This record gives sequence, structure tokens and C-alpha cells, in this order.
Amino acid sequence: MENFIVSARKYRPSTFDTVIGQKGLTTTLKNAIREDKLAHAYLFCGPRGVGKTTCARIFAKTINCDHLTPEGEACNECESCRAFNEGRSLNIHELDAASNNSVEDIRNLIDQVRIPPQVGRYKVFIIDEVHMLSTAAFNAFLKTLEEPPAYAKFILATTERHKVLPTILSRCQVYDFYRISVGDMVDHLRSVAAKEGVTAEEQALMVIAQKADGGMRDALSIFDQMVSYSAGNLTYKSVIDNLNILDYDYFFRFTDLFLENKTSDCILLFNEILSRGFDGGNFIGGLASHLRDLLVSHDAVTLPLLDVGEEMRNRYQEQAARCPQKFLYKAIRLCNDCDLNYRISRNKRLLVELTLIQLSQLTSDDADDASAGRRPAQLKPIFGTAQPAAPASLPKNSTQPVVSIIPNTTSTTKAPTEVQKTQKVQGAEVQQPSQPKLPQRSRLGTVSIRAKKADAPPAETPTNNFPDGETNRTPLPQEGKENVPAPDKPFSEEDMQAAWRTFAASLPREDIATAGRMNALLPHLEEDGVTFSVSVANNLIESDLRKKKSAIEAYMRKELQNSRVTMEIIVSEAAVSARLLTPRQQYEEMVKENPNLQLLMSTFDLDLV
Ligand SMILES: [Zn+2]
Repeated sequence: MENFIVSARKYRPSTFDTVIGQKGLTTTLKNAIREDKLAHAYLFCGPRGVGKTTCARIFAKTINCDHLTPEGEACNECESCRAFNEGRSLNIHELDAASNNSVEDIRNLIDQVRIPPQVGRYKVFIIDEVHMLSTAAFNAFLKTLEEPPAYAKFILATTERHKVLPTILSRCQVYDFYRISVGDMVDHLRSVAAKEGVTAEEQALMVIAQKADGGMRDALSIFDQMVSYSAGNLTYKSVIDNLNILDYDYFFRFTDLFLENKTSDCILLFNEILSRGFDGGNFIGGLASHLRDLLVSHDAVTLPLLDVGEEMRNRYQEQAARCPQKFLYKAIRLCNDCDLNYRISRNKRLLVELTLIQLSQLTSDDADDASAGRRPAQLKPIFGTAQPAAPASLPKNSTQPVVSIIPNTTSTTKAPTEVQKTQKVQGAEVQQPSQPKLPQRSRLGTVSIRAKKADAPPAETPTNNFPDGETNRTPLPQEGKENVPAPDKPFSEEDMQAAWRTFAASLPREDIATAGRMNALLPHLEEDGVTFSVSVANNLIESDLRKKKSAIEAYMRKELQNSRVTMEIIVSEAAVSARLLTPRQQYEEMVKENPNLQLLMSTFDLDLV
């Protein structure tokens, strides 16, 4: 069998010019060498596999070369260059700090620094993963790094710059290596493929480059792997199959389905993906990236951010042109939400499917409002009726009469019936014969509320202005001729309390806290027979109720058929002080409830702090 050399080693660049994707940096280094302006220490930062060690070696070779080319490159022919290329040069020392991070290792290195080079001009010390050195090793190294002999040059490399001590950073010239772009990688892979006699589809190389995520070493090792799998013929199909990558064609198809609002096709296509063994989380991540790529393709300014080949670029631009920008924003947000929730979701498949449903409805006609993007359009009617205009939203000081309707929600259907029953019993003798069942029923269904100046005394409200009857009869024109203001009826405290509870029950869901507070309170009817008072424990509840005051009063007036009903809110001193017990008082209250507490205290000789 032929001796196989991995491509990453075989095609390792030997000059600055052949380093991929770090043009600016290599030019700077070349210039520094040519002009003989060498620092004594360099720090190369950047992700793995982007050429840090390679550049360090080229640098070491170049500064020792006897016949520099006019461009400042090593000649690769002199004795020194050959020694470097064959790996037998004594002027280069490499230390992998990941595995040699002790003080002892650094001392050995420092010993080497003391010996001047026998051949050539410079000794170069490369310390890889320098952030892994122990603090003691760092400190041992610091002195040497600060004042090295003129023939010693240090090149420190790290993937995690933030972990390098500031004392080291400040003594080095720092170079940042960037991720290699997909385009650069594809170019290099193509040239390697050509040298190796491998036929390769452009798309196949692109997938490899994307998978390598900016690291050339990874790209080349994936390339080697794929070449051996596919027997020298790299096709897009063979690469995505072997790398278990979801064909990006799927994402194009999904986007088309979204735009056509084909919800069921989306679900079926997703099922196909799952049945091929792909993970839903990866799928959503891929879909989000695709939508992001479409977004950047939308605008010529952001187009350079699209890191794909020419053919793909056209495809992206074509689809992006058909996507409204608003759709893309919303879609990316939906995918992102799904991605965030995916890990914690108990039904991951459903989560993805739900997201797909939402995505496929983003461009449907009725989804084009503020709430779209958060919930699917088909759910809107349900939410639309479940959240009526809350009485709280009525302007408190509005002088204009505002009429709002509280629909009869399921939770309240029962309660008003009870109220009505009591009313019938209580007010049997005053019940108007001209108001039989129909208006009574309609009153159950809708309740009219008039907001007026919160502080206006009820007596000032003229009886004939009260909307009772008016709004009830609006939907029932046959009642119109009976538009006579009803006289105020007397009511009992029980009637009033029942109406209070009915109002609480009719509050929409967002007012659930207020409803709870109202249920916990028991209003009392004052002696005047029309004012009822509520004692509350604190100002918070008071202000909460005060916001609802006009709505409550309007409701009570209508329910109790008395236009003079007024609510008073009293912040009860007793209630307040009851909440402000001292620890001792609290303890006594607790003992009252559970006398064993006292035993516990005495047994363990405890005291209140
Ligand atoms: Zn040379």
C-alpha cells in the first residue's frame, strides 16, 4: 500500500504567499522581515486550524533563510530552508503547552534559550496553546520573555486570547487570525483535488468547507475522508450522505411552502426529514440559518455576508426576491424561539411542527397584523373573543360617555341567573309588567357600562340618562318603543353582594388578580340603602379597585336597577395594622393556631430574634 500522507500535511503551505485566507497578516509579517523590524515576541490568536502554527514555522524558516526572495519569502533552497523543510533544523523549538504546562517544562525551554544558534541567525521558540501554561510556569517564563537574547524569537499561539495573562499580552506583538472563508477554502480544496486527481463537484467542496467552520485543517481532513469514501469522485450527494448533513435543498423547498401557505405539505416534508434520521433541533437550526442567508441576500449591502459559492448565491438571491422582508424577520424569530425551547420541550416534534404551522401562515392574508408571528392566524378568532374590552381600559376621567360591552363568558353564565332569581323574589312587587323575559335575558348576555367622572356624585346622574334599557334594546329594536327610564328599585345587601361577585366573575382573564381580590372582599350596604362600602387592607388593593370603580358602579346600577348605587372604598386601619404584626405578635398568632409550637420553642430553648 502506498504511503498515505494526509492532505493537511502534504499541502501545508511553505511560504507566506500560500497561506490561505490570512493575506493581510502574512503581508505584514513579510514586510517586517524584509525591513528587519522584528519584535522579540509574537502572539498569534485565532480559532483552530486557521494557520497559526504554519505561519509560525514559515516565519522561523524565513528569518533564517540565507537568500530571501525580493518579496521577503524564504528561498526553500538554501541549507537552512532545507533543514526546516525536512524537519531537522535545530533553530526551531516547539512546545505544546496543552500537555507541557509545568514550571519544569518552561525551565527546560529557558535552558534552550540560553544556547545561541550554531547555524543560522535566530532560534525560534513556538509555544502552542500558551493559555494552558500554569500560573507558576507563566511567571517563570515572564523574565525570559521580557529580555530575551537577540537571537531568540518567541511565537506564542492561542485559541483563547482572553485566557492569556495581561503581562504576557503586553510583551507581545499580537496578530489575529481569522476564520477562513468558505470561498477561500473551496478554492484551496479545488486545487488540492486537482493535484490529487480527484474529481469534485463544487457543491461537494462547499459542504466540506461549511462543515469545517473556518478551519482549513478540518476541511482537509474531511476532504481526505470523503475521497476515501467516494473512491475519488466527490459528489454533493455522496458528501451530504457521508457527513449526515441535511440537503439544503430541503430548506429551499420549505421556504417555498411557507410562501404558498402549504401547511400540511410542511408537516409531511418534516416527517420525511425525521424518517431519514435527522434531528429536529438540527433541522430548525439549519432552517434558521437558511432564513438568515435569505435575509442577507435581500440587500446588496449585506450580500457579502452570504458565504457561499456563485451558483448558490444566485439561488439565494432568487428566493430572497420572493420573500417579503417582514416575513423573513418573523420567520427567523419563530425559528429562534423554537431553537431556544427545543432542549426543554417535552414534545420536541410537536414544537417543531407548531413552528412550521406558524411559519406557513405568516404570509396568509389575515396574519398580517401585530400579533402575527407570535401565534398562528387560525387561533386568532379564539383569542379574539376570549379577551373582551376590559372595563379597566375605560378612561377614568373621561367626560364623554363611553359604552363598552362585557360579553357573557362561560364562567359567568351561571352567576347572573342566580342574581336574576333573587331579583325576581326581592323585587316581585316592583317588577315592571312591560319588561318580561326578553330584556332580562339580553341583560344576561351583555352588560352596559358607562364611564363618567369617577368622583361625580351618583345623585347628579339624571335617571333618564342612565343607559339602562338603551343599550340593551339597541340590538332588539322591538323594545324601542318602551324606552321609559325605570324607577330606582330598592335592593338588599345580599343582592348587592351577589352582583359584586357576578361582576368579579365577568372580568376578563387579564384581570384575574382583581377578580380574586374582589371575591375575597365582602361589601356592606350602608344605611342610605344605595351606598356600599368595601374595606381593603392596603393602598395597592384600593388603587386597583378605584380603577374599576366606575365600571363596578355602572354594573351594580344596572343589575340592581338602581341608578344611585355608589361604591366607597375604605382602607381599613384595622386591616392594615393586622398585617403589621411584630414578630412577637406573629408568634402569638401562630401559637393560637398550633399550641405545639410553644412546646417546640421551650424544648429546644428557642427564642425570637
Ligand atoms: Zn532559504
